[in-house]
Amino acid sequence: MTTSGRASVHVKAPGKINVFLKVGAIDDTGYHDVAIAYQAVSLYEDVRATLADDFSVEVTGSVELSRVPLDGGNIAIKAARLLAARTGHAGGVHIRIEKHVPVTGGMGGGSADAAATLVACDALWGTELPRDEMLELARKLGADVPFAFTGGTAIGTGRGDELSPALAQGTFHWVLALADFGLSTPAVYAELDEHRRRHALDIFPADPRPSVDAAVLHALRAGDPHMLAEALHNDLQAPALHLEPSLADVLELGEQNGALAGIVSGSGPTVAFLTADVDSALELQVALSASRLNVVRATGPVHGARIVGD
Ligand code: ATP
Repeated sequence: MTTSGRASVHVKAPGKINVFLKVGAIDDTGYHDVAIAYQAVSLYEDVRATLADDFSVEVTGSVELSRVPLDGGNIAIKAARLLAARTGHAGGVHIRIEKHVPVTGGMGGGSADAAATLVACDALWGTELPRDEMLELARKLGADVPFAFTGGTAIGTGRGDELSPALAQGTFHWVLALADFGLSTPAVYAELDEHRRRHALDIFPADPRPSVDAAVLHALRAGDPHMLAEALHNDLQAPALHLEPSLADVLELGEQNGALAGIVSGSGPTVAFLTADVDSALELQVALSASRLNVVRATGPVHGARIVGD
């Protein structure tokens, strides 16, 4: 068995906002190609891995935790087992996750846990898997896991996991309205498919190979929140609003209180408001809190999964 000589490793991995998400036509296997512009934001999962004989996980944090599995169904355990199998490492790990990304919130919290666990176990066990092989394992764990590994700003195509970095400058200031319920990603996709069938979009189908609009790339490159606000787009927003009509009120409230624009993040239900600067973000946070919404501020882009200590 390889070991690094470390007894524990602490990794931080970020949640993400999809600043652009287009869903292509459904294929024969029931999947859709997507075109996503991802931005990693400063809402982090803290993952601490310690040497153990078997695989176990415990979860604490600032968000509702009841939907997080504590057995082998936890994606962090899946990540650790996958790395052990790939490298032939014989030992196990105890994983402590401190969650700050809302669960089933559309911000890729589970994906961040998986990416963080890969990085933590690789360092803990001294397996030193090359970066491209780590990305390959990340892809096996889920479409959003490679992005949680790389962070920053990136374009994802295919299932969202074929990543290319996007040029970006500056810092964007977001206010996130966290819901006290979750939305299942498959349910939101099913609602989108149903909507497209109802509106006969199977006769005029969605582009099978969607791409990210040039306006988004331009806004990210310019670091201009006003331009980005104009270009934000999410094909999953309408089906998410259909499943949870209350999100429309949240979007309206943010836009009435100074947000440049609001968008449902991924499959929701988190709503992300883009603001002009840090002062506007603070004002919006105060206004939305006064309306009894659970809001946090975050900035992006930030780094991907990274070791921060023992
Ligand atoms: P995405 O935006 O990538 O679609 P999400 O942010 O909406 O995902 P997550 O919180 O990443 O949702 O994952 C939610 C689902 O994954 C739940 O069904 C939950 O039971 C399961 N799950 C497994 N492991 C974890 C984990 N470590 N943290 C959160 N959810 C987990």
